[in-house]
Amino acid sequence: MTSLHTDPSGEHRLLLRSMLGEDLVLTDADAMARYCRDWHGDVTSSAVAVLRPRSTEDVAACVEACRELGLAVVPQGGNTGLVLGGIPDMPERQVVLSLERMNRIRKIDADDFSAVVEAGCILWELKEAIAAEGMFFPLALGAQGSCRIGGNISTNAGGINVLRYGMTRELVLGLEVVLPDGTIFDGLSTLRKDNRGIDLKQLFIGAEGTLGVVTAASIKLTPNPDQVATALVGLASLEDAITLYRRARRDCSDLMSAFEFMPPLAFTLAREAIPDLPIPMAADYPCYVLMEVSGSGLVDIDNLMQRFLEGVMEDGIVLDGAIASSQAQARNLWLIREGMNEGQAKRGVHMRSDVSVPLSKVPSFVAEAEKAIHEALPDCICVSYGHVGDGNVHLNVLPSVELPHQQRLERIYQSKTILNQVLDRFHGSLSAEHGIGRLKRADFDARLPETKRRLLNAIKNAIDPDMVMNPGCQLNFTGKS
Ligand code: FAD
Repeated sequence: MTSLHTDPSGEHRLLLRSMLGEDLVLTDADAMARYCRDWHGDVTSSAVAVLRPRSTEDVAACVEACRELGLAVVPQGGNTGLVLGGIPDMPERQVVLSLERMNRIRKIDADDFSAVVEAGCILWELKEAIAAEGMFFPLALGAQGSCRIGGNISTNAGGINVLRYGMTRELVLGLEVVLPDGTIFDGLSTLRKDNRGIDLKQLFIGAEGTLGVVTAASIKLTPNPDQVATALVGLASLEDAITLYRRARRDCSDLMSAFEFMPPLAFTLAREAIPDLPIPMAADYPCYVLMEVSGSGLVDIDNLMQRFLEGVMEDGIVLDGAIASSQAQARNLWLIREGMNEGQAKRGVHMRSDVSVPLSKVPSFVAEAEKAIHEALPDCICVSYGHVGDGNVHLNVLPSVELPHQQRLERIYQSKTILNQVLDRFHGSLSAEHGIGRLKRADFDARLPETKRRLLNAIKNAIDPDMVMNPGCQLNFTGKS
């Protein structure tokens, strides 16, 4: 028999079950395992319990109960975050609060171009339901089959359509949030313009669950872009890719919706993940761009893409190009981009980054960082790619597969240090999209200007003085100010 005095987690589990009811509280270690493991499977943890509320009132009761018991709350959506923001790191005093059962679409309003949705809606399912009403929700990312809108809002997710529609922040009209004291902030307005004082919802967007639990959101919709043209082009350099981007912004009437750059190695990596993937071009060019132009109504998108590519090929900016002539072909082009991620994962543990620098500095940043890493770590391969139109680069480093695990981990640490040094010289951001979580906390902390630290601590202390929400995520918040 287990003594309650020597097993505080056991006591807390009993109390949570009696306060919240059996249905909401999961305590079986096997059942909890998937909530306590990160997406890559690199980190495994545990928790006092996993709470699975069905309503906003349930969430409020869960937060209240945790506060009373001196437990902390780690909110979780689809658990696709790449920086360990939703994975507990203090198993004895943290509970995971999963929003997965709060997945109702409360309203889709095609007349007002808005929808009101619960935090646990899976992004892809939400997009499908909105498309069925002839509307479009532009947020699009590789994890969209699993990530949930509350997680997207809490990380201020980016993705492939940012250059046209903005980050998640620009798609949110209002929020409903359970605060750390269990009260509910009801800000589910669908107003487009509302300048009545400080816009409080902005505090919770990108807060990674450190200020409260997002339970629902009102979001902006746009007309469905029923015409989409997708092309893969080969170029002589990353500099030419930036020139192409500037030309496309100007010549395509700002209808460009995606612009991703990839190295030739992308084809090999994608085929390692999807062996029979058709690739319409040889890996002969130093740089590739996957671009998309889209629109609805009276514009002729196919003609626009065709004429644009003819022009840039005539001017020698693009050396080779293939335009998808069917949805299936377009899908296959996108599978190169998605497959290259899987291909990297198949090569084992590696250094992943998500950085940003000013657009015009992307080529020199990538050249300098890759050179520094190659010189110091000749047994590693750099793979640079990303949402380059936003100045966002994933410069990943794959240690040789021949190296033993421990040495691979050393290469990851060394390459990350070198990358951060180069990034600091370019005044870039060490998190363009993915947030800070627990993974980047030390690097973020080391670079935090004092005034920003003071403001962040003041906001945290004003909203969550008892440090109930996601301690250890983003920053070790200190002291009441
Ligand atoms: P989780 O991983 O569950 O949580 C993320 C953070 O938000 C945690 O700190 C958690 O505590 C907090 N949180 C979750 N739900 C709530 C809530 N309701 N209230 C308060 N806090 C909450 N990201 C991009 O920005 N752009 C990309 O292009 C992109 N591509 C990806 C591709 C792949 C293959 C993968 C695996 C990930 C990718 N990501 C990308 C990262 C990830 O998908 C996003 O960060 C996503 O927004 C996380 O959503 P989630 O529901 O999985 O959140």
